Amino acid sequence: MRAQLRIDLGMCQGHGRCYEIAPDVIDADDDGLAVLTSTEPMDAARAKEIAGTCPEFAIEVEDAS
Ligand code: SF4
Repeated sequence: MRAQLRIDLGMCQGHGRCYEIAPDVIDADDDGLAVLTSTEPMDAARAKEIAGTCPEFAIEVEDAS
């Protein structure tokens, strides 16, 4: 399965866990909040792993199959 990430910036608190493990698809803005740098579908298992790093549940995984 393929999936896409979506970040709810209203929930992001800038912990940085997501972009530490996935710098190829998520970067930090000037305030340390997460910014998607790629909207290409990725392996769903990896998307879930990335989303699971966020303690604020700010990262959603959407089906892109
Ligand atoms: S882990 Fe969650 S709260 Fe932290 S920067 Fe990423 S999206 Fe934001």
